[in-house]
Amino acid sequence: MWARKSAIAPLRKNIPAVRAAAVDNAAVAKYTDFVARSGVRINNYIGGRFVAPVAGNYLDNVEPATGEPYSQVGDSDAQDVERAVAAAEEAFAGWSRTAAAERSRILLRIADLIERDIEKLARAESVDTGKPLSLARTLDIPRAASNFRFFATAILHTETEAHVTDNLALNYTLRQPRGIAGLISPWNLPLYLLSWKIAPAIACGNTAVAKPSELTPMTASMLCELCDEAALPAGVLNIVHGTGPNVGAPITAHPKINTISFTGGTVTGRKVAEACAPLFKKVSLELGGKNPTIVFADADLNAAIPGAVRSSFANQGQVCLCGSRIFVERPIYQNFVDGFIDKTAKLRVGDPLEPTTDQGAIVSKTQLDKVKFYIELAQQEGGRIALGGSAPDTINHRCRSGYFLQPTVITGLPVSCRTNREEIFGPVVSITPFDSEEEVVAHANDCDYGLASSVWTQNLSRAHRVAEQIHTGTVWVNCWLLRDLRVPFGGMKQSGVGREGGNEALRFFTEPKNICIAK
Ligand code: NAD
Repeated sequence: MWARKSAIAPLRKNIPAVRAAAVDNAAVAKYTDFVARSGVRINNYIGGRFVAPVAGNYLDNVEPATGEPYSQVGDSDAQDVERAVAAAEEAFAGWSRTAAAERSRILLRIADLIERDIEKLARAESVDTGKPLSLARTLDIPRAASNFRFFATAILHTETEAHVTDNLALNYTLRQPRGIAGLISPWNLPLYLLSWKIAPAIACGNTAVAKPSELTPMTASMLCELCDEAALPAGVLNIVHGTGPNVGAPITAHPKINTISFTGGTVTGRKVAEACAPLFKKVSLELGGKNPTIVFADADLNAAIPGAVRSSFANQGQVCLCGSRIFVERPIYQNFVDGFIDKTAKLRVGDPLEPTTDQGAIVSKTQLDKVKFYIELAQQEGGRIALGGSAPDTINHRCRSGYFLQPTVITGLPVSCRTNREEIFGPVVSITPFDSEEEVVAHANDCDYGLASSVWTQNLSRAHRVAEQIHTGTVWVNCWLLRDLRVPFGGMKQSGVGREGGNEALRFFTEPKNICIAK
């Protein structure tokens, strides 16, 4: 199944044997692709070939649902980044001059191949991240295909600006590819977010050196196989696997990489900004969030409750856009809390590969410990655990050592305590009552982050008024995560700098040049 150029080698002897061969769960045994990929070494993809890291080091790649390593990923370093940059530089000369129609054709082929392999990719994403297979199949992988399709066609419909300067001159603007783009992404939506960067970068004629999270590298590697099959020229996309300090930092510091698109935590984003500033790189930072969900008394609770449950717990609460602070207008507070808890209690936590699972595993032990720390802290800060707070007792034998946590609802917290201000990034939500529009806008904005918010009301004037006053890059009204790829996407305050999506991405990945021709 692996393409000819795959460099899959057997695991080192000290890594436990392929787990899938020994699992006792029929639900997994039937996923033959997962079985086939267990035990592989995930190598870098540089200059169109899969190559081992120069130093020959690998990290264990753990399946969160079992807590066991099931493959290994390259633990690359600056030498590998250097090779990727050389390949990207060589490819840039040809790719940047390739006609947009041809670039578009190749990206469309990649989109088609992702769709062809949706089942394989979804299973791999589920195993690698712990997310429910059903979510990977309906959200992550379809969106990765849409990312390629969207930018493949967007580059066919751009316009060139022209300015006539009295009777003296004609100015027109060229938007040229910038060169080599460094693309760094997190673990929560691996292929979805990495392709959200790769697609616009290469569609615009740049070449790329990309680094997926070391925790979730599998689908990035599978994407490389598809790029190969789609005849993407060698060196246009290069993927270097490894940790942030060993691979991410050399990418942000490399003088030949002049464009950096980073998605990840705010603390890392600051390091990226610091590395890029002295080199005057063009930088886009998509960072953390602590998003408010506001429910007014006039909201349609039949829509608001399921909407808020989804926005709180989708992907185990590990979506940067998840609403982790719910504010409910006092007259409906108790009704809302009761309905919310009732609906949340019905979420089935379990083996991500089981079709009935709503909530899978947390991505890593470290992340699970972080979430547990905040549940403890919430109680010290006066919060009451109204639901969840511990590991579920419904986990099957295969997943008995996995990183699971019940969806957790906390009430009674002060608005500005740490639990309500700091990003937890897990299945934990607080619910707080409010008394007036003015008060809830202040609560929503009383936070260092400004990524997204959702407002539930049937009063259209209020919706406009509140949306205008909330300091977040996106405000959803009576919905959540309803995405149109043309709209500007990004955060305010410590949630980031710059915008992705649609024309914003096309502008980010190109350099405007004005040509002034005298009459
Ligand atoms: P992270 O910041 O730890 O890592 C993100 C990526 O940066 C990884 O690939 C990591 O290896 C790399 N990295 C780490 N140190 C680096 C360094 N010094 N230089 C360069 N790269 C480095 O984030 P994470 O834990 O993988 O992801 C969770 C975070 O991502 C959360 O804060 C979440 O809100 C955020 N996120 C934001 C968005 C958004 O669109 N705003 C989307 C998804 C996730």
